[in-house]
Amino acid sequence: MGRPRASTAEIVVVGNEVLNGEVLDTNSNWLAKRLYASGLVLRRVTAVRDDLREISAAVREALRRKTEWIFTTGGLGPTDDDMTLRGVALATRRRLVLNSEALEMLRDRYSRLYEMGVVRERELTPSRLKMAMLPRGAKALRNRVGSAPGSLLKHGRSWIISLPGVPSEMKDIYENEVEPLLLKSARRTFRSVGGLVVRGVPESALAPVLSAVSRRHKQTYVKSHPKGIEAGRSVVEIVVHGEGGSEEEARRVVEEVLRELQEQVKGLMPASLERIEAREGG
Ligand code: ATP
Ligand code: MG
Repeated sequence: MGRPRASTAEIVVVGNEVLNGEVLDTNSNWLAKRLYASGLVLRRVTAVRDDLREISAAVREALRRKTEWIFTTGGLGPTDDDMTLRGVALATRRRLVLNSEALEMLRDRYSRLYEMGVVRERELTPSRLKMAMLPRGAKALRNRVGSAPGSLLKHGRSWIISLPGVPSEMKDIYENEVEPLLLKSARRTFRSVGGLVVRGVPESALAPVLSAVSRRHKQTYVKSHPKGIEAGRSVVEIVVHGEGGSEEEARRVVEEVLRELQEQVKGLMPASLERIEAREGG
């Protein structure tokens, strides 16, 4: 599978809490689902500690691989151990500069928090100002849920998108500020998934059929999942992932493959077949 036309993505998860096992990294899983549904190819997820060199190395490596959409999550907050944007700046050989859009967003935010009585001063203290320091050339991304703005930086052919670690903030910025851009600018593939449950044919007997069908249909990825033995018969689930330039094309390749598989499996030995509901993504 993997039609080379779709844009590539990577995620760099930043945070000691994740690598210490205190916090389960749900951010990358959420992003992975969204990117898959949008038709991008997520190549890699890397988790690093709150360490400037580790962060910048991870971003630099993603750039070296010419990944087009590089996401970071975590480390945008006001404290000294939040240093993701310093890492991005280092990786792209830029300075961190006071970003006027981010400054405006933070002014708004703290005025509102002050009026609500949540904070005791409305002024931008040094730790608040820190969140307005973005790599030169970056665009600030509005955070409607929390304080730290996200950052969007075009570097060569790559976009580097830095999102907060707090899941609700990350999702808010992604949905409102990032996804519209991605849907407009990324090269997307359309995906469809379908499946079969085969009873009475062991996986080893299915294997040659599956590989022959996969070879004939390069736009699909066919995977078998053995489900054990029921009433003396092997149960195997076959899942077919298909890609295409449109939703319809993706659905068509999956249908074709399922039809071929059904025919061939019927010829193998007495088996019962059952279709699984198709899902679409793209
Ligand atoms: P803040 O402005 O709140 O400091 P931040 O961008 O600096 O945001 P972090 O300090 O890295 O974010 O993380 C804040 C909290 O968000 C963590 O304590 C954790 O509960 C949660 N969090 C961070 N990273 C992840 C992740 N990858 N998956 C799920 N939750 C996460
Ligand atoms: Mg923080």
